[in-house]
Amino acid sequence: MPGTIIVAGIPGVGKTTVLQELEAVAREKNVPLKIINFGNVMNELFKKRGKAIHRDHMRREEISLQARVQQQAARVISKTPGNSALVVDTHMFVKTTEGIWPGTPRKVLEALDPEIIILIEAEPEEVARRRAADSTRYRDTGSVEEAKSDLQWSRYMASANAVLAGVPIQIVHNRDGQQRQTATDILDIIQKRN
Ligand code: ATP
Ligand code: AMP
Ligand code: MG
Repeated sequence: MPGTIIVAGIPGVGKTTVLQELEAVAREKNVPLKIINFGNVMNELFKKRGKAIHRDHMRREEISLQARVQQQAARVISKTPGNSALVVDTHMFVKTTEGIWPGTPRKVLEALDPEIIILIEAEPEEVARRRAADSTRYRDTGSVEEAKSDLQWSRYMASANAVLAGVPIQIVHNRDGQQRQTATDILDIIQKRN
């Protein structure tokens, strides 16, 4: 069951948490899956360029540099060896100092060549709470209004991607305390691909 699945969502919605559960659920059900975090790959590439910076500070760098590293990361990910499905933990957009910037512009999308885009969503109130409570990261804000606006932007960007790549979008809801259910919903979608 090869192929690439983009799993995207706004900061703090719970992507990485849910995908950790997905790894466990897939192992229990003997479904081969490989999960890659796009931000980790970019952070390693920044390091190799002599810029060892926190993952939450990459988006403050110049767009031209972020774009080069972003494309390089997509190429690295596209060369992942193995025959299992590849799940990419990433963002439909990044809030940079120059504006809202696509996480998967055309060249990145072409390199990743996804079969489907899965958007993880949650209620804006839940996202705001999760952002505010997570002291392990430097996320931008904990306001409900900002979360609401981010959720909208994520859908706008996902629709542009779906048109460019000709692939479907599925939305899964990551309810409070229900990360395992969300992971199970994602595994169902992955297994039902043609
Ligand atoms: P980023 O894009 O910034 O990496 P993310 O989408 O990967 O964010 P996580 O780091 O997985 O988000 O989760 C953000 C916070 O929300 C964490 O503190 C995590 O424990 C919490 N969280 C994630 N999912 C749930 C859930 N279903 N119920 C309650 N808390 C959750
Ligand atoms: P994350 O841990 O998923 O929040 O990723 C950390 C950081 O990596 C993000 O804040 C972005 O700066 C960067 N990042 C992740 N995915 C992408 C992407 N598709 N395009 C550009 N930057 C990305
Ligand atoms: Mg994450």
